[in-house]
Amino acid sequence: MTMSSISIRGRYAPSPTGTLHLGNLRTALLAWLFARSAGGAFILRMEDLDGPRVRPGAAEQILADLRWLGLEWDEGPDVDGPYGPYTQSAREAIYAAALAHLRRYDAIYPCYCTRAELRALHTDENVASAPHGLSTSSPPARYCSCRVLTSAERLACETSGRRPAWRFRAPPEPFTFTDRIMGTVTQRPSDAGDFIVWRSDGLFAYHLAVVVDDALMGVSQIVRGADLLPFVAAQRALFLALGYPPPTEYAHVPLATDATGVRMAKRDASAGVAALRAHGVTPAQTLGALAASCGLWPANTPATPADLLVAFDPMRIIREPSPIVLLEG
Ligand code: GLU
Repeated sequence: MTMSSISIRGRYAPSPTGTLHLGNLRTALLAWLFARSAGGAFILRMEDLDGPRVRPGAAEQILADLRWLGLEWDEGPDVDGPYGPYTQSAREAIYAAALAHLRRYDAIYPCYCTRAELRALHTDENVASAPHGLSTSSPPARYCSCRVLTSAERLACETSGRRPAWRFRAPPEPFTFTDRIMGTVTQRPSDAGDFIVWRSDGLFAYHLAVVVDDALMGVSQIVRGADLLPFVAAQRALFLALGYPPPTEYAHVPLATDATGVRMAKRDASAGVAALRAHGVTPAQTLGALAASCGLWPANTPATPADLLVAFDPMRIIREPSPIVLLEG
């Protein structure tokens, strides 16, 4: 891969499981602002690996909504680029090769536990919970004995018909980094347990795909929702196990709430672009409100992407979850 180590490459990586709500749009805007303010490239990647949760038409809608807002990208599913394809479902052979590499180095192991067995092993404080909207086929195994099964024991599990998930041996050494929004954070990769890289239902898991893609697409700047903050050290350990340099910059964007303080969900289409358009709200009003909601712009003031870029000061971004309200009621 030929790539200058100093050129910033940022990305927005939505999962097409529903309509983007204002919180998702705010994350996309901030990812765009972080990349562009650094003079970097901006990549759009469609994370559609979790087939059962993908909604038909959602990927196209996401691209249309981001364009309506006025954000543009240099590489993505619709414009392609040097590190494509930019849709995860078209990259399965790449994930399979990464999985084979991890297996060769014994960095992963098959876990035959059922959900019920894992639940019986855990207490809440043992594991970081799964991020919002990302399903895992089972909770992280922290203390299950699959990590140390002998080949004979594995064979016995196989012959009993159990289908394994594959888990990463997460190391315990702490890692400290400075998140551009959340500040200094210290985590252990093992805080997230031995997370799944291959699901027992036959799907590549989120953590594997996201790390492989960020590595191969040369992403150096990760801007995404704060629900993924607990997984920075875990994902970094996976970068290192695969032999890739980890990203150098992180910014985890506070989660958005509605006017009543309730966290937004993708199924809540009333908070999406279609509803705004139906009410005559303009892209500039929307951008202004998104930026105002996290402290970057005065309230009730329309803005273009270029206006926000000139004024962008990451130090002003509010860390706490905050409401984004554009339509009354
Ligand atoms: N696809 C994930 C989501 O929509 C984001 C992954 C990431 O940014 O690392 O929540």
